[in-house]
Amino acid sequence: MTDRREELSAGLEAVENRILAACAAAGRDRSEITLVVVTKHFPSADVELLRGLGVTDVGENRDQEAAEKFAHLRDREDLTLHFVGQVQTNKAGHVASYADVVHSVDRQRLVTALDRGAERAGRRVRCLVQIALDDEVGRGGVPAGSARAVADAVAEASHLDLGGVMAVAPLGADPAAAFTRLREVATGIRADHPEASWVSAGMSGDLEAAIGAGATHLRVGTAILGTRLSLR
Ligand SMILES: *Cc1c(COP(=O)(O)O)cnc(C)c1O
Repeated sequence: MTDRREELSAGLEAVENRILAACAAAGRDRSEITLVVVTKHFPSADVELLRGLGVTDVGENRDQEAAEKFAHLRDREDLTLHFVGQVQTNKAGHVASYADVVHSVDRQRLVTALDRGAERAGRRVRCLVQIALDDEVGRGGVPAGSARAVADAVAEASHLDLGGVMAVAPLGADPAAAFTRLREVATGIRADHPEASWVSAGMSGDLEAAIGAGATHLRVGTAILGTRLSLR
């Protein structure tokens, strides 16, 4: 266990140094950026170790795994739970019962289902509109041209708060160009919804490009926890 703690501590420190260097290069303040540690495929024991190392934001991408993992955590008021994976409409009510933030809202039906789930659970859920930055289907996200309609739906929902936007850089493309495009979409949404200030972008491989393009939230897994076993 101690060895694992040291591994995680070293991973966090390495990522922190990358964030600081990217902030310096972009003329940004470190305090503008929140690091979400994506713990998918890793056990709740790792989440406890990360908490002990000062991590306040963790991310998961599958409903069942997230629910089981977080059920084991006691007194999790100090932890913000981010759901970063695609949400099936029939799982949305459940996700809304424990997630504090859902990064992957990409259709009106999902907005309706999350809103109902949040109401049933007596809580509020912050939602980010996931933008598809390429034409690839199946990876989630709404085309940029339809993003405002989804954002409007979140803003109108009684139990949801519109936080901003999220994207995953397209495979094989220049992440800086993709994240610049994301910023343009974010700016368009903020014109109607000034509170929607979050830009969730950047993972282990491209966090510098994301910081350079104005990201406020990074979602980092591998660079902190190590390589995940392949999909279960
Ligand atoms: C897994 C995942 C991440 C973290 O990716 P790494 O490359 O391991 O840092 C970020 N965002 C989403 C949506 C993910 O599914």
